[in-house]
Amino acid sequence: MAIASETQPQEKASTEVSGEEKKRWTLNDFDIGKPLGRGKFGHVYLAREKRSNHIVALKVLFKSQLQQSQVEHQLRREVEIQSHLRHPNILRLYGYFYDQKRVYLILEYAAKGELYKELQKCKYFSERRAATYVASLARALIYCHGKHVIHRDIKPENLLIGAQGELKIADFGWSVHTFNRRQTMCGTLDYLPPEMVESVEHDASVDIWSLGVLCYEFLYGVPPFEAKEHSDTYRRIVQVDLKFPPKPIVSSAAKDLISQVKNHFLLFNPQWLLHLPW
Ligand code: ATP
Ligand code: MG
Repeated sequence: MAIASETQPQEKASTEVSGEEKKRWTLNDFDIGKPLGRGKFGHVYLAREKRSNHIVALKVLFKSQLQQSQVEHQLRREVEIQSHLRHPNILRLYGYFYDQKRVYLILEYAAKGELYKELQKCKYFSERRAATYVASLARALIYCHGKHVIHRDIKPENLLIGAQGELKIADFGWSVHTFNRRQTMCGTLDYLPPEMVESVEHDASVDIWSLGVLCYEFLYGVPPFEAKEHSDTYRRIVQVDLKFPPKPIVSSAAKDLISQVKNHFLLFNPQWLLHLPW
Protein backbone atom coordinates (compact mmCIF):
# COMPACT_ATOMS: atom_id res chain seq x y z
CA MET A 1 0.00 0.00 0.00
CA ALA A 2 1.37 3.39 -0.93
CA ILE A 3 1.85 5.98 1.77
CA ALA A 4 -0.47 8.80 0.89
CA SER A 5 -0.18 11.36 3.62
CA GLU A 6 2.54 13.16 5.52
CA THR A 7 1.54 11.68 8.82
CA GLN A 8 1.92 8.06 7.91
CA PRO A 9 5.67 7.66 8.25
CA GLN A 10 5.43 8.51 11.92
CA GLU A 11 2.46 6.26 12.56
CA LYS A 12 4.18 3.39 10.88
CA ALA A 13 7.37 3.94 12.80
CA SER A 14 5.88 3.94 16.23
CA THR A 15 2.60 2.07 16.24
CA GLU A 16 0.64 -0.67 14.68
CA VAL A 17 -1.44 0.88 11.92
CA SER A 18 -5.00 -0.39 12.18
CA GLY A 19 -5.06 -4.00 11.15
CA GLU A 20 -1.67 -3.94 9.43
CA GLU A 21 1.20 -5.89 10.84
CA LYS A 22 3.63 -3.91 12.94
CA LYS A 23 6.31 -2.66 10.60
CA ARG A 24 9.35 -0.67 11.60
CA TRP A 25 11.29 1.60 9.29
CA THR A 26 14.62 0.45 7.92
CA LEU A 27 17.16 2.09 5.67
CA ASN A 28 15.79 0.00 2.80
CA ASP A 29 12.58 2.03 2.90
CA PHE A 30 14.47 5.10 1.66
CA ASP A 31 16.37 6.27 -1.38
CA ILE A 32 19.21 8.42 -0.10
CA GLY A 33 19.97 11.67 -1.91
CA LYS A 34 22.41 14.52 -1.49
CA PRO A 35 23.92 15.44 1.88
CA LEU A 36 22.14 18.44 3.43
CA GLY A 37 24.57 19.16 6.19
CA ARG A 38 26.75 17.89 8.97
CA GLY A 39 25.97 17.93 12.65
CA LYS A 40 28.10 17.17 15.65
CA PHE A 41 27.12 13.50 15.72
CA GLY A 42 26.48 12.62 12.12
CA HIS A 43 25.13 13.70 8.77
CA VAL A 44 21.82 14.78 7.33
CA TYR A 45 20.70 13.56 3.90
CA LEU A 46 17.85 14.29 1.59
CA ALA A 47 15.85 11.08 1.28
CA ARG A 48 12.73 9.72 -0.36
CA GLU A 49 10.44 7.16 1.18
CA LYS A 50 10.23 4.62 -1.61
CA ARG A 51 6.58 3.67 -1.49
CA SER A 52 5.06 7.12 -1.03
CA ASN A 53 7.76 9.19 -2.76
CA HIS A 54 7.58 11.44 0.27
CA ILE A 55 10.68 13.62 0.60
CA VAL A 56 12.24 13.83 4.05
CA ALA A 57 15.53 14.73 5.70
CA LEU A 58 17.25 11.71 7.24
CA LYS A 59 19.55 12.52 10.13
CA VAL A 60 22.09 9.79 10.72
CA LEU A 61 23.74 9.68 14.14
CA PHE A 62 26.54 7.35 15.16
CA LYS A 63 25.80 5.45 18.37
CA SER A 64 29.48 5.36 19.31
CA GLN A 65 29.70 9.16 19.20
CA LEU A 66 26.46 9.57 21.12
CA GLN A 67 27.77 7.22 23.81
CA GLN A 68 31.17 8.89 23.95
CA SER A 69 29.60 12.28 24.55
CA GLN A 70 26.99 10.81 26.88
CA VAL A 71 24.09 12.40 25.06
CA GLU A 72 21.90 9.33 24.53
CA HIS A 73 19.33 10.49 27.07
CA GLN A 74 19.35 13.96 25.49
CA LEU A 75 18.58 12.38 22.12
CA ARG A 76 15.81 10.29 23.64
CA ARG A 77 14.25 13.41 25.10
CA GLU A 78 14.61 15.27 21.80
CA VAL A 79 12.82 12.45 19.96
CA GLU A 80 10.15 12.07 22.63
CA ILE A 81 9.36 15.79 22.69
CA GLN A 82 9.70 16.71 19.00
CA SER A 83 7.71 13.73 17.71
CA HIS A 84 4.68 14.86 19.70
CA LEU A 85 4.66 18.46 18.49
CA ARG A 86 2.45 19.46 15.55
CA HIS A 87 2.84 23.06 14.47
CA PRO A 88 3.51 24.68 11.08
CA ASN A 89 6.53 26.49 12.54
CA ILE A 90 8.03 23.45 14.26
CA LEU A 91 10.00 20.92 12.23
CA ARG A 92 8.17 17.60 12.28
CA LEU A 93 9.94 14.50 13.50
CA TYR A 94 8.06 11.66 11.81
CA GLY A 95 9.87 8.80 13.48
CA TYR A 96 13.16 7.03 14.03
CA PHE A 97 14.87 3.69 13.58
CA TYR A 98 18.28 2.24 14.26
CA ASP A 99 20.72 -0.45 13.29
CA GLN A 100 23.81 -1.72 15.05
CA LYS A 101 25.90 1.37 14.53
CA ARG A 102 23.52 4.22 13.82
CA VAL A 103 20.33 5.97 14.87
CA TYR A 104 18.22 7.54 12.10
CA LEU A 105 15.78 10.39 12.57
CA ILE A 106 13.11 10.91 9.89
CA LEU A 107 12.61 14.67 9.74
CA GLU A 108 10.50 17.07 7.74
CA TYR A 109 12.61 18.49 4.93
CA ALA A 110 13.19 22.24 5.20
CA ALA A 111 13.83 23.08 1.53
CA LYS A 112 15.35 26.52 2.03
CA GLY A 113 17.88 25.44 4.62
CA GLU A 114 19.28 27.40 7.52
CA LEU A 115 18.03 30.80 8.58
CA TYR A 116 21.53 31.50 9.82
CA LYS A 117 22.91 31.34 6.27
CA GLU A 118 20.17 33.65 4.99
CA LEU A 119 21.05 36.17 7.68
CA GLN A 120 24.73 35.96 6.78
CA LYS A 121 23.86 36.50 3.13
CA CYS A 122 21.59 39.50 3.72
CA LYS A 123 23.61 40.85 6.71
CA TYR A 124 20.32 41.89 8.32
CA PHE A 125 16.62 41.51 7.54
CA SER A 126 14.04 44.15 6.69
CA GLU A 127 11.64 44.97 9.53
CA ARG A 128 8.86 43.29 7.64
CA ARG A 129 10.78 40.06 7.24
CA ALA A 130 12.02 40.16 10.86
CA ALA A 131 8.46 40.77 12.10
CA THR A 132 7.19 37.76 10.10
CA TYR A 133 9.84 35.51 11.64
CA VAL A 134 9.31 36.87 15.15
CA ALA A 135 5.55 36.33 14.89
CA SER A 136 6.08 32.77 13.60
CA LEU A 137 8.47 32.06 16.45
CA ALA A 138 6.06 33.55 18.96
CA ARG A 139 3.26 31.32 17.65
CA ALA A 140 5.45 28.23 17.87
CA LEU A 141 6.60 29.14 21.39
CA ILE A 142 3.06 29.80 22.61
CA TYR A 143 2.20 26.32 21.33
CA CYS A 144 5.26 24.71 22.99
CA HIS A 145 4.80 26.50 26.30
CA GLY A 146 1.12 25.55 26.26
CA LYS A 147 2.32 21.95 26.18
CA HIS A 148 4.85 22.69 28.95
CA VAL A 149 7.74 22.30 26.54
CA ILE A 150 10.60 24.79 26.77
CA HIS A 151 13.07 24.81 23.90
CA ARG A 152 15.98 26.53 25.72
CA ASP A 153 18.20 26.81 22.65
CA ILE A 154 16.46 29.27 20.35
CA LYS A 155 19.14 30.71 18.02
CA PRO A 156 19.55 31.24 14.26
CA GLU A 157 21.47 27.95 13.83
CA ASN A 158 18.44 26.04 15.08
CA LEU A 159 15.96 27.67 12.74
CA LEU A 160 15.31 26.24 9.29
CA ILE A 161 13.26 27.60 6.41
CA GLY A 162 10.59 25.61 4.56
CA ALA A 163 9.78 25.65 0.85
CA GLN A 164 7.38 28.62 1.24
CA GLY A 165 9.92 30.61 3.25
CA GLU A 166 8.23 29.72 6.52
CA LEU A 167 10.29 29.45 9.68
CA LYS A 168 10.69 26.05 11.37
CA ILE A 169 12.13 25.55 14.82
CA ALA A 170 14.46 22.55 14.80
CA ASP A 171 16.85 20.90 17.22
CA PHE A 172 15.01 20.12 20.45
CA GLY A 173 18.18 18.67 21.99
CA TRP A 174 18.08 21.04 24.96
CA SER A 175 14.34 21.14 25.41
CA VAL A 176 12.53 20.03 28.55
CA HIS A 177 9.04 19.06 29.47
CA THR A 178 8.34 21.04 32.62
CA PHE A 179 5.15 19.22 33.46
CA ASN A 180 7.16 16.03 34.01
CA ARG A 181 9.74 17.88 35.98
CA ARG A 182 7.12 19.47 38.17
CA GLN A 183 5.57 16.12 38.84
CA THR A 184 8.77 14.21 39.46
CA MET A 185 10.50 16.90 41.46
CA CYS A 186 7.81 18.46 43.52
CA GLY A 187 4.48 16.77 43.09
CA THR A 188 1.71 18.87 41.62
CA LEU A 189 2.00 22.61 41.25
CA ASP A 190 -0.75 23.17 43.84
CA TYR A 191 1.58 22.52 46.74
CA LEU A 192 4.54 24.58 45.57
CA PRO A 193 5.64 27.72 47.42
CA PRO A 194 5.68 30.99 45.42
CA GLU A 195 9.42 31.01 44.70
CA MET A 196 9.24 27.52 43.21
CA VAL A 197 6.20 28.27 41.13
CA GLU A 198 8.12 31.23 39.86
CA SER A 199 11.20 29.23 39.03
CA VAL A 200 9.07 26.84 36.96
CA GLU A 201 7.57 29.82 35.16
CA HIS A 202 10.95 31.45 34.85
CA ASP A 203 12.14 28.63 32.66
CA ALA A 204 9.69 29.38 29.89
CA SER A 205 10.80 33.01 29.87
CA VAL A 206 14.20 31.77 28.68
CA ASP A 207 12.67 31.29 25.24
CA ILE A 208 11.06 34.73 25.31
CA TRP A 209 14.37 36.32 26.21
CA SER A 210 16.02 34.47 23.30
CA LEU A 211 13.26 35.74 21.05
CA GLY A 212 14.15 39.31 22.00
CA VAL A 213 17.81 38.62 21.30
CA LEU A 214 16.90 37.09 17.95
CA CYS A 215 14.70 40.03 17.05
CA TYR A 216 17.71 42.31 17.62
CA GLU A 217 19.97 40.04 15.59
CA PHE A 218 17.49 39.91 12.69
CA LEU A 219 17.40 43.72 12.56
CA TYR A 220 21.04 44.52 13.26
CA GLY A 221 22.80 41.42 11.95
CA VAL A 222 24.67 40.82 15.22
CA PRO A 223 23.43 39.62 18.61
CA PRO A 224 23.00 42.42 21.17
CA PHE A 225 25.55 41.36 23.77
CA GLU A 226 28.31 40.26 21.42
CA ALA A 227 31.87 40.87 22.65
CA LYS A 228 35.33 39.58 21.84
CA GLU A 229 35.75 37.75 25.11
CA HIS A 230 33.27 35.30 26.52
CA SER A 231 33.56 37.00 29.92
CA ASP A 232 32.60 40.36 28.38
CA THR A 233 29.50 38.87 26.77
CA TYR A 234 28.63 37.39 30.13
CA ARG A 235 29.04 40.78 31.83
CA ARG A 236 27.02 42.57 29.16
CA ILE A 237 24.15 40.09 29.57
CA VAL A 238 24.18 40.33 33.36
CA GLN A 239 24.14 44.13 33.17
CA VAL A 240 21.62 44.01 30.31
CA ASP A 241 23.95 46.32 28.42
CA LEU A 242 21.64 46.86 25.45
CA LYS A 243 22.65 49.46 22.87
CA PHE A 244 21.10 50.31 19.54
CA PRO A 245 23.72 51.31 16.94
CA PRO A 246 22.77 54.15 14.55
CA LYS A 247 23.01 51.84 11.53
CA PRO A 248 21.18 50.03 10.14
CA ILE A 249 18.23 52.33 10.75
CA VAL A 250 15.62 50.58 12.83
CA SER A 251 12.22 52.06 13.69
CA SER A 252 11.56 53.18 17.24
CA ALA A 253 8.62 50.74 17.39
CA ALA A 254 10.99 47.81 16.80
CA LYS A 255 13.55 49.15 19.30
CA ASP A 256 10.78 49.64 21.80
CA LEU A 257 9.69 46.03 21.38
CA ILE A 258 13.22 44.75 22.01
CA SER A 259 13.50 46.96 25.10
CA GLN A 260 10.23 45.61 26.38
CA VAL A 261 11.51 42.06 26.11
CA LYS A 262 14.56 43.26 27.98
CA ASN A 263 12.44 44.70 30.73
CA HIS A 264 10.69 41.36 31.03
CA PHE A 265 7.53 43.16 30.08
CA LEU A 266 6.74 40.30 27.78
CA LEU A 267 7.30 37.67 30.41
CA PHE A 268 4.75 35.01 29.66
CA ASN A 269 2.91 37.15 27.24
CA PRO A 270 4.29 36.29 23.82
CA GLN A 271 0.80 37.12 22.48
CA TRP A 272 2.21 40.62 22.21
CA LEU A 273 4.48 39.51 19.45
CA LEU A 274 1.71 38.27 17.21
CA HIS A 275 0.61 41.73 16.16
CA LEU A 276 3.73 43.76 15.79
CA PRO A 277 3.18 47.38 14.88
CA TRP A 278 5.87 47.33 12.22
P1 ATP B 1 24.91 20.68 15.72
O1 ATP B 1 24.62 20.17 17.08
O2 ATP B 1 26.34 20.86 15.37
O3 ATP B 1 24.03 21.86 15.35
P2 ATP B 1 23.18 18.74 14.79
O4 ATP B 1 23.56 17.36 15.17
O5 ATP B 1 22.12 19.47 15.55
O6 ATP B 1 24.46 19.57 14.74
P3 ATP B 1 21.71 19.58 12.62
O7 ATP B 1 22.00 21.01 12.96
O8 ATP B 1 20.37 19.08 12.92
O9 ATP B 1 22.77 18.68 13.31
O10 ATP B 1 21.98 19.28 11.08
C1 ATP B 1 23.15 19.70 10.43
C2 ATP B 1 22.80 20.52 9.20
O11 ATP B 1 22.01 19.75 8.28
C3 ATP B 1 21.96 21.73 9.49
O12 ATP B 1 22.74 22.79 9.83
C4 ATP B 1 21.21 21.94 8.17
O13 ATP B 1 22.02 22.63 7.24
C5 ATP B 1 21.02 20.54 7.66
N1 ATP B 1 19.70 20.05 8.04
C6 ATP B 1 19.38 19.41 9.19
N2 ATP B 1 18.09 19.08 9.24
C7 ATP B 1 17.55 19.50 8.09
C8 ATP B 1 16.21 19.46 7.54
N3 ATP B 1 15.22 18.89 8.21
N4 ATP B 1 16.00 20.00 6.33
C9 ATP B 1 17.03 20.56 5.65
N5 ATP B 1 18.28 20.65 6.11
C10 ATP B 1 18.57 20.13 7.31
MG1 MG C 1 21.98 21.90 15.03
